[in-house]
Amino acid sequence: MINIVNTVEQVREQVKAWRKEGLTVGLVPTMGFLHEGHKSLIDKAVEENDRVVVSVFVNPTQFGPNEDFESYPRDMEKDAALCEAAGASLIFHPEPSDMYLDGYSTFVDMDTLTKGLCGKTRPIHFRGVCTVVSKLFNIVCPDKAYFGQKDAQQLAVIKHMVRDLNFGLEIVGCPIIREDDGLAKSSRNTYLNADERKAATVLNKALTKGKEAVMSGEKDAAKVKAIITDIIEKEPLAKIDYVEIVDWNNLEAVDSTEGDILTAIAVYIGKTRLIDNFIVEGRN
Ligand code: AMP
Repeated sequence: MINIVNTVEQVREQVKAWRKEGLTVGLVPTMGFLHEGHKSLIDKAVEENDRVVVSVFVNPTQFGPNEDFESYPRDMEKDAALCEAAGASLIFHPEPSDMYLDGYSTFVDMDTLTKGLCGKTRPIHFRGVCTVVSKLFNIVCPDKAYFGQKDAQQLAVIKHMVRDLNFGLEIVGCPIIREDDGLAKSSRNTYLNADERKAATVLNKALTKGKEAVMSGEKDAAKVKAIITDIIEKEPLAKIDYVEIVDWNNLEAVDSTEGDILTAIAVYIGKTRLIDNFIVEGRN
């Protein structure tokens, strides 16, 4: 069975032993309830490193007071089986009290990339993400860490943080893994009832039409946003949080779809907030 450890010291000891043998180490940070999306990150990490640590930690500091920290799905047994089958070497599964000691008061925050998109609706989210990811980088000291494009803003923020704070590791971005009907895989999809699950396909349908418009030469970002918005608004169970087109390099809003762009959306399906996106690079 794959080794599951709970304390920072246990991780440090194991990584130290690997380093003595001259082995490279990859890190895949997750909140658990793992699916094929997470597995694709672990697969890539296993391919590129001698040893892979998967962290499974539902991080309280990245959830707002009215968000789903308590109800976030958890299944450690299934997660362990998936990690083992994918060839990971160690699971780090701390308790919040292992990560945030009594009197904890140090946070990593960012002034720019965290303010728009999901940062608008989730004002403390990226402070929690940057803090926990910094801690994981310091605990594991990996050569490479793997993040999904599914959370595109998070990927951009982490890359920026690594640059700003001189973390000595490489960030590897991995493509979005989808269900057969196009819905981006997410641990939160489990919240959807049957009708909502059907309605949730509207995110990818709308983005696909938006991307088609960009690829066939539509340069007006407002027009592309309108195509996406119109499709989502026709779905009665969907309520738009945001539809945005930004520069993929700095997440600032753009008027034109030329260059490197991220088109990102957040949509409530019933009470469940889902996100999805596409990136188009180098068009002019
Ligand atoms: P989470 O457990 O939701 O915090 O996600 C952990 C990591 O898995 C993040 O880097 C996510 O971007 C990535 N991830 C989650 N879902 C997918 C997916 N459908 N495709 C690719 N990566 C994903």
